[in-house]
Amino acid sequence: MLNINFLCFLCFCAAVNADFKQTVYTKTGITLKDLGEKQYQFVPFEERQSHRNHYFMRPEGQAVTTIILHDTVGTVFSTLNRFSDGKEPALNAHYVVTRKEGVVPGGLVIEMVPPPLMAQHAWPSWFRGKDDANQYAIGIELVGKGFVDQGRKRSFYVYDSGQIKALAVLLARLVKEYAIRPENILSHGDVSPQRKYDVTILFPWRELYEKYGLGMGLDGDERTKMGIMKKYGVPFALPEKFNEMFFHKMLTLLGYDTRFADDHDASAGEKRAKWANVYQAFYAHYSRNGQETRWRGKPDQRDQFWAWALWVKYCAKDLQKESRGENGPAQGSVPVGEFMI
Ligand SMILES: [Zn+2]
Repeated sequence: MLNINFLCFLCFCAAVNADFKQTVYTKTGITLKDLGEKQYQFVPFEERQSHRNHYFMRPEGQAVTTIILHDTVGTVFSTLNRFSDGKEPALNAHYVVTRKEGVVPGGLVIEMVPPPLMAQHAWPSWFRGKDDANQYAIGIELVGKGFVDQGRKRSFYVYDSGQIKALAVLLARLVKEYAIRPENILSHGDVSPQRKYDVTILFPWRELYEKYGLGMGLDGDERTKMGIMKKYGVPFALPEKFNEMFFHKMLTLLGYDTRFADDHDASAGEKRAKWANVYQAFYAHYSRNGQETRWRGKPDQRDQFWAWALWVKYCAKDLQKESRGENGPAQGSVPVGEFMI
C-alpha cells in the first residue's frame, strides 16, 4: 500500500512538472529545461526572437558580491513574459521562485539569467557607496504581490512556505558559490528605499537567519546591549536614549543611501519624508521584521539598538582593521571617530 502511494506521489510530481512546463510554454512561448529538484532553466530563444533574450554582460572583472530579493507583483506567467518581452526599459532577474497560484505549485525555481551574466532588476539603486546594483548583484524574484493598499490601510501578503524553502536552498547554494557575505543579502527596498518596498515586512528574514543561517541577524545572546558589548567589544557606545543623529549615522554606516541629508536644496519636510522611507526599509528587514502593523512610524530605542548591534556584529571589524591600516577604506564608510559618543 505504501509503495503504491509512493509511486502515485511520484506520478503526481512528474505530472505537475510536465504540466507546469507545458503551461509556461502555452502562455509565454518560453521553453524551460528541467534541471531536476524542481528547478528549471529558461532556454534562450532562437535567433529570430533573440530580442526576447534579456541578457547583459557584467562590467569586465566585476565580481558577484550581493543578492537582491524582489516581489514580482505579477503572476509567474506575466513575469516570465515581461522578463523576455524585448520592451524598454529592459527588465529581468536571474531567478524566479513560484508561489502556489492555481495549478502552479509553490517552490519551483526558474533560472532566467545565469549569475555570471547581468540582469536588469535594480536600477537605479545605491548601497554602501556603489550605484547600479545590477552590476554586482544576483536578482531573485519571488512571485507575489507583496502588499496592497486600500485607502490608508496597507495589507501585506504572507509568503508561500514552499517558496521560502526553495529560496533558502537557492540562497545557500549561491552564498557558497559566490562567497556572499551576510550583510550583502538585501531587499530591493534596501538599495532603492525612495522608490521600492519589496520584499515586505512579512518576508521571513528572521526565519532565514535562524533556520538556515542566511543574512544578518541577532542570536539570543545578542539581544541586549551588554550581550553585544561582551561578545564583540565596542568601537563606540549605544546612547541610553533614542538619538536621531546617532540612528541616522548607523543607517548610513550600514550602507543605506542617506546622501539626501546633505542636500542643501531640499527642505526639512522633504528630508523627513526621505528618512521615513529609509526607516521603512530598515524596519522591514531588521528591527520590525514580521510586525506588519509597525511598517512605518517614528523610530525608537529598539530600532536604534538593532542598527547599532548589526553594525557592531557585521561591519565594525572592517572599520577597526581600517583604522589600524590593514586594508583600504570601506566604500561609503565614514570615519569611526566622528561617532564617539
Ligand atoms: Zn523589486
